[in-house]
Amino acid sequence: MRTINALDSTLRSYLSAEQSNHVKRAYYFAEQAHFGQLRRSGEDYITHPLAVAGILADMHMDHQSLMAAMLHDVIEDTGIEKSAIGNQFGTTVADLVDGVSKLTQMEFGSLKEKQAENFQKMALAMAKDIRVILVKLADRLHNMRTLGVLKPEKARRIAHETLEIYAPIAMRLGMNNVRMEFENLGFGVLYPMRARRIDAAIRKARGHRNELVDKIGHQIETTLEQEGHNAEVIGREKHLYSIYKKMKSKRKSFSEIMDIYAFRIIVDSVDTCYRVLGSIHSLYKPVPGEFKDYIAIPKANGYQSLHTVLMGMHGVPIEIQIRTRDMEDMANNGIAAHWLYKSDGQSATGSHARARQWVQGLLEMQQRAGNSLEFIESVKIDLFPDEIYVFTPKGRILELPKNATAVDFAYSVHTDVGNSCVACRINRRLAPLSEPLQSGQTVEILTAPGTSPNPSWFNYAVTAKARTNIRHFLKHQTRDDSIELGIKLLEKALLSFETSLEQLPEEQLQDYLERHGYDQQNDLMADIARGNRLPAITAQQLANKSSTDPLQGGEVEPVAIRGTEGFMVNFAKCCHPIPGDAIEGYLSSEKGMVVHRESCKNLSDSKDNRERLVALRWDDEVEGEYSVELRIEVENRRGMIATLATRINSMDVNIEKISTEDKDYQFTYVDLAMVVQNRVHLARIMKRLRIIKSVHRVQRVKN
Ligand code: MN
Repeated sequence: MRTINALDSTLRSYLSAEQSNHVKRAYYFAEQAHFGQLRRSGEDYITHPLAVAGILADMHMDHQSLMAAMLHDVIEDTGIEKSAIGNQFGTTVADLVDGVSKLTQMEFGSLKEKQAENFQKMALAMAKDIRVILVKLADRLHNMRTLGVLKPEKARRIAHETLEIYAPIAMRLGMNNVRMEFENLGFGVLYPMRARRIDAAIRKARGHRNELVDKIGHQIETTLEQEGHNAEVIGREKHLYSIYKKMKSKRKSFSEIMDIYAFRIIVDSVDTCYRVLGSIHSLYKPVPGEFKDYIAIPKANGYQSLHTVLMGMHGVPIEIQIRTRDMEDMANNGIAAHWLYKSDGQSATGSHARARQWVQGLLEMQQRAGNSLEFIESVKIDLFPDEIYVFTPKGRILELPKNATAVDFAYSVHTDVGNSCVACRINRRLAPLSEPLQSGQTVEILTAPGTSPNPSWFNYAVTAKARTNIRHFLKHQTRDDSIELGIKLLEKALLSFETSLEQLPEEQLQDYLERHGYDQQNDLMADIARGNRLPAITAQQLANKSSTDPLQGGEVEPVAIRGTEGFMVNFAKCCHPIPGDAIEGYLSSEKGMVVHRESCKNLSDSKDNRERLVALRWDDEVEGEYSVELRIEVENRRGMIATLATRINSMDVNIEKISTEDKDYQFTYVDLAMVVQNRVHLARIMKRLRIIKSVHRVQRVKN
C-alpha cells in the first residue's frame, strides 16, 4: 500500500510543487472526512481514495483528476456537500467529484446487452468532463483489485457489472491496460475454476515455451540490429480472459491458442515500423491474409499498430505487432495517454477541450489514413453525443435524439401513452412537456383517458414516431372539426330559406349527394367547411329554390364563434381578432374559415369573393386566449424591455414574442405579441403600460 509520501514523489516527478500540494491538501481533507470509517478489509477508508489517486498518478493524469480521486467518496459517504468541496478546491474539482458520485449512485446489477450498451453511452454522455469517467474507472479498478474481501454474491455482482459496462468503456477510450485488468479480475471472480485451470495451464506451458520464445526473440533482434533498426523486442503472453474468450468463440483448444508465439516490436518512428515489417517478412514467411495496417487505418478508439503473422521454424505461428512508442502508450492508456503533455500550452482549464483535442488527434490520424465511417461515428457517439439516455420509472433505458422532450419519450414508450399524455415528471418534479430531456433523468408520463394530442406538441416533438402520430391524429381530428363546422354553416344558410337539415325531405338530400358525387353526408359537410363548396349556394340547391339571393334576403343571422371550434376555424395573423372586436369570416378553400377583424384590410381585398364571406359574431360564452400584437414606443433607455416584460408578466399575461426596432435617436419601437382573453383585458394591459415612465405610446397593431 502506497502512502501519501510515496505518492508525493510520483507527483513531483511530473507535476509542479504547487499542484502536488493541492493533491495533498485534498488527501488531508478526505482523510479527515472519512475519519473513523473502515473498508471491509479493516483498513482505514482513506487507503481507497489514496490508491485510486495512485492509479491515476501512474497514468500521469492532471492534479485536478487526482484531487477528485482523493475526494470521490466524500459526498457519497460522509455527507459533506458539493458546495463545501467547491469552496475548498474550486468548482472544477467539485464538479468532478459530483459527477463521479452520480455515476456511483447509478450502479446496477446485471443488465441486458442492449441496456448495458446504452448505459455505457449514457455514462459517457453524462460526464461532460471526461475525467469523471477516468476517475470512475480508477475507482472501479481499485475496487476490483480488492474484491476478495466481499461476500461472494456481492463480488460476483460487481464483477459482472465491470465486464458488462466498465471494461467496454475502457476499451472505447482505448485504455487497454485497464480493460485487460478488469477482464482478468472479473473473469477470476465469475469463473474461479476456469480461471485457475487456464492459469495453471499457462504456467505449465510457459516452461517449454520459454526456450522457443527466447530463440525466436533473439533471431528477430539480431536481424533488426543487422539492418540498423533501433528497436525493442518484447515477447508477450495472451491474458487469461482473452485466452478464455478465444477458446470459447473460436472453439480452439488451449494448446492451439498457446502454440502461438507473440512479440511486440517498439520503434522510434512510423517510417521504421514499415521498414521493420519488411525485415521481419524476409526473416520468416508471412501468413497470407493476416497482415493488418492499423497505422494507416486506426481502430475506432485510436489504436494504431502493424499486425502480421509469420510462420516460424517447424511451422510455429508467430504473431507480431509493430508500433512506435507513442502508439504503444496510446494502446495502453488511450485517452489518458499524454493527458498533461497534450494540454500543455493550451488553456489547461476545460478538460472538455482536452477531450476534444484527443478526438482531434484521432481525426487527423484518420484523415491521413482515409475514411472509416465507423470510427468517426463511434467517436462522435462516445464523446459528443447526439443522443440522450433516459430512464423509465422502472429503470428501463431509452435512447432518444438530443433535444427530445417528454412527448417524444411518451411516444417511444407506446403510441397510446403518447396520445393520452397530459403532463410529466422529470426526476419526480412536475415539468412542462416541452422541456428538453437530459441524459440520466428519470421520466414519468402522466396520462388521462380521453385526452388527445395537442397541436402545439409539433413545436417541440423531434422524433419521427411522435411527429407522425401527432400528425395522424390531427388529420382525423381536423375531419371531425370540419364536419361540425360544415353543419353549422349549412344550417345557417338553410335558415335564410326558412328550412333546416332536419326539415329537408330525405330524398331531396340524397338526390343532392348523389348528383354531386358524395358517398355520405359528412363528406359534403367537410367540403363546406374547407371552402370547397359554398354554404349559401348549397343551401339554395338543397332547398330547391331557384333564383333568390339569400344574402340579399333580409337579416342574416351571424354564426357564433366560441373559440373551441378546433382546426377549421383560424384567427387571421394579419389583424389578430380578439373577443369584443367586430369580426367577419372568410371561407378560404382547403384552409377552412379564417376569422378577421371587420376593419381588416385583407378582408376588404377579398370582397370580390363575397360569396365566401360569412357573417360572424362572438359567442356570449367565448373561451380561450387570443394572440394580439402591440407596438410600444419607448424612450431609449437601458432596461426598458425588462421593465415592460416585468410589468406584463405581473399581470399574468404570457408574452409570445418580443422584438425592437429603432425609431430615431430618442425613441424605440418595441413590438410585443401576447395572448389575452378579450378587449377589456387588453385595454387594462394597455392602460398599465401607458403609465410607465418613458413609455410614449401604446398601440394595437392593425395589419
Ligand atoms: Mn470509491
